[in-house]
Amino acid sequence: MEDERELARRWVKEAKSIAALTGAGISAESGVPTFRGEGGLWRNFRPEDLATPEAFATNPVLVWEWYQWRRELIGKAEPNTGHKALARLEASGKEFTLVTQNVDGLHERAGNHRVRKLHGDLWRLRCTSCGAEWPDRRVPLAKLPPHCQCGGVARPAVVWFGEPLPMEVLRASADAAEEAEVLLVVGTSAVVYPAASLIPVAKRGGAKIIEINTEETPASGVADCRLRGAAGEVLPGLVT
Ligand code: NAD
Ligand code: ZN
Repeated sequence: MEDERELARRWVKEAKSIAALTGAGISAESGVPTFRGEGGLWRNFRPEDLATPEAFATNPVLVWEWYQWRRELIGKAEPNTGHKALARLEASGKEFTLVTQNVDGLHERAGNHRVRKLHGDLWRLRCTSCGAEWPDRRVPLAKLPPHCQCGGVARPAVVWFGEPLPMEVLRASADAAEEAEVLLVVGTSAVVYPAASLIPVAKRGGAKIIEINTEETPASGVADCRLRGAAGEVLPGLVT
């Protein structure tokens, strides 16, 4: 009998179009803590209490201190073998769309050129007054909160709880999920919506769903193949 990994490898090999949805788990082996896993807490705050427009309105410096901590940690992190396997998939000549919930920028650093970022980018800032957006990789930032040239307070250009996702990115991601023959669901707890809705969208479009996660998730039930293990260990074997 073909084992699950063999089966998944064959699906990936035979598919002409593939999409991947990644979450914090793919960066865990790079030393970036997931939100729900151990080490995800900062000064005993939960992300749900910091990653919100209300928290920023009440205490922008506190929220920025948290982002400063994450930028420091993530700035030192390197892409791992899981990220690199997805970069090889993009380079393979197949139709490939990478959709990520991560804001860490590790997919681009691994060599993926087209990354659909559902939740924004930790390395970009946005002005809360004029809406201007710009890249800023400085660690640490000189002064918190940082400001825009217009004098307005800048925030991280990420999507917070309760905020809408960038419409264009979401639409393009849903199109890719619908058209894909295979959807890789990697290191996501699949509980944050609408990101997680890409899984049923792909399923309805006829895609085989391959889940790669160290644990069971709500997506496990709809997955056609469940590979239990770390992304950095499982993905290189899928993309050979
Ligand atoms: P999550 O923290 O809710 O879930 C992480 C998932 O990864 C879990 O299901 C866990 O079992 C799995 N996992 C842990 N280590 C793994 C490994 N080595 N290999 C494979 N799977 C592993 O993260 P989420 O689903 O991405 O959703 C939460 C939100 O957190 C997202 O909006 C995301 O933007 C944000 N977030 C991003 C980062 C980042 O950019 N790296 C880090 C933390 C949280
Ligand atoms: Zn401005």
